Amino acid sequence: MYDKNNVFAKIIAGEIAAERLYEDDSIIAIKDIKPEAILHILVIPKKNYIDFADFTKKATTEEIAHYFKTIASIAKANGADEYRIVSNKGTSSGQSVFHFHTHILSGSINQELINKNL
Ligand code: AMP
Repeated sequence: MYDKNNVFAKIIAGEIAAERLYEDDSIIAIKDIKPEAILHILVIPKKNYIDFADFTKKATTEEIAHYFKTIASIAKANGADEYRIVSNKGTSSGQSVFHFHTHILSGSINQELINKNL
């Protein structure tokens, strides 16, 4: 069951501060508080999905398409042209916040891309 007191629900509600890099009607992206790469962004749908399986089961095809296209554009807008995307599902796989999210991890940042704001 979805726990409404998780940290990302509080960030989405504005109850906990986070460095927001992107926001639209259905998604926010924030900087990870404990970065594991030079660039470490979390892309979080605003709706209450527990994990990847819950998201793919309940979200519409349009929502899922928008989410993954937005991950790509957020990576690009933050200067990452090479990166890894990860979504941990379940405690034994490393999930610690039970509100679905995807990590963007990049070891190299292309400053020219950032400057052009592409
Ligand atoms: P996961 O372990 O895959 O569920 O990812 C949860 C991520 O959320 C971890 O990488 C944490 O560092 C990150 N995190 C936890 N609390 C915050 C917060 N208040 N602001 C930003 N990132 C956070």
